[in-house]
Amino acid sequence: MAIANFTYTGLPARVIFGKGSLQQLETEIDRLGSRRALVLSTPEQRAQAERIADILGERAAGIFDKAVMHVPIETAREARQIADKLGADCAVAIGGGSTTGLGKAIALDSGLPILAIPTTYAGSEMTPVYGLTENGLKKTGKDPRVLPKTVIYDPELSVSLPVDLSVTSGMNAIAHAAEGLYAQDGNPVMSLIAEEGIRAMAEGLGRVTQAPEDLDARADCLYGAWLCSTVLGNVGMALHHKLCHTLGGSFNLPHAQTHTVVLPHAIAYNASAAPEAAARIIRALGGKHDSAGAALFDLAKDLGAPMTLHELGLTEPDLDRATDIALSNPYWNPRPIEREAIRELLQNAYEGKRPA
Ligand code: NAD
Repeated sequence: MAIANFTYTGLPARVIFGKGSLQQLETEIDRLGSRRALVLSTPEQRAQAERIADILGERAAGIFDKAVMHVPIETAREARQIADKLGADCAVAIGGGSTTGLGKAIALDSGLPILAIPTTYAGSEMTPVYGLTENGLKKTGKDPRVLPKTVIYDPELSVSLPVDLSVTSGMNAIAHAAEGLYAQDGNPVMSLIAEEGIRAMAEGLGRVTQAPEDLDARADCLYGAWLCSTVLGNVGMALHHKLCHTLGGSFNLPHAQTHTVVLPHAIAYNASAAPEAAARIIRALGGKHDSAGAALFDLAKDLGAPMTLHELGLTEPDLDRATDIALSNPYWNPRPIEREAIRELLQNAYEGKRPA
C-alpha cells in the first residue's frame, strides 16, 4: 500500500485510564501545580462533583454545578466570575461534553488549566475545540488553551450513565472516528486510532446494553471514547457533522441522538468516494457487511437506538429547509455535495430506511 503524504501534529494530553484511576486525582492536581480547584458539573451530577470536592479537601475552591448543553454565554460568564472570585487556579470538569465545554469556556478567557473526568463518551476532552451559544447562535472555534491538560478516564464513573444515553453518546463518538477516516487532513496514525476506536466502542456498547454495570464493558467504551475523541481533536469533520450541526442548530434536535440517526446515511453517501474508510468501518464492526452504512445502521438498531429523524421531532416539511441549510457553506467532503442526493439522504434518515 502506498502511503499518501501527510502532516501530523500531536496534541499534548496526559491520560490516566482505568478502573479506580480517580484515586490519582490528588496527585494529578499536584502535578498541575494547582492548590485551588473549581469543580464543574451539571445540576444532575452535583453528587459526583461533591465526591470530587471531598477527595480534593482543602484543594477544592468550590463547586459550580450549572453546566448545560451548548454552553450559553451567560453560564460561561457566571462561571468565569466565580472562578475569579474564588481564586481558582484550575478547573476540574466531571461530566459529559457540556461540562467539559464549560471548563473550556473558562480556559479560553483565563488560560486556567482543565482536568477533565469524562462520564459520557461524547469526547470533548481530547480536543482544542470549544463552543459558546450567544443569542441562540452557537459559535465554535479552536484554541490550544482549551485542551484539557489532564484527563482521568475511570469507568466506574460512567456506570450510572443510562443505557439509552450510553448508546447515543457512543454512536456520537463513532461518528467522529468514522468521519476522521476520510478527513481531508487525515493521516495513517489517526486512521489506526479511528478504526480501533470504532471497534472498541461498538464491542463495549453491545455489552453495556446487556449489563450496564459491567465495568469491563464500560472500560471498553471509555477506551473507545478516548480514541474517537483523539481523532476529533486532530482532523477535520465533513458532511455528517455539517448535517448534524444543521439539524441541531436550526431545528433544535438533540445532539447525540441526531448523530446516531444520521451517521449510517452520511457514511453511505460518502462510501463510494472513500472506499478505504468504508472498508475500515466494516472491518471494525465485525467484517460481515458489504456496506459501511448498513453496518452502522444494524449496529444502532441492535443497540436499541432511535432510528428516525421523525421520532426526534423533525417534520417532513422541514426536510427541504434542512437541505438548503446543509448546502450553504458546506464543509469539505470526499464526495461532492449534490442537492438531490442530500435531500434523499435526509428523507432516508427521516424514515429510518436501511442503507443498501
Ligand atoms: P451532556 O454533557 O450534555 O450530558 C447529558 C446528560 O447526562 C447531562 O444531564 C449529564 O449530567 C448526564 N450525565 C453525564 N454523565 C453521566 C453519568 N455518568 N451518569 C448519569 N448522568 C450523566 O452530553 P454529552 O453528549 O456528553 O455532550 C454533548 C455536548 O458536548 C454538546 O454540546 C456537544 O456539542 C459537545 N461536544 C463538544 C465536543 C468538542 O470537541 N468541543 C465534542 C463532543 C461533544
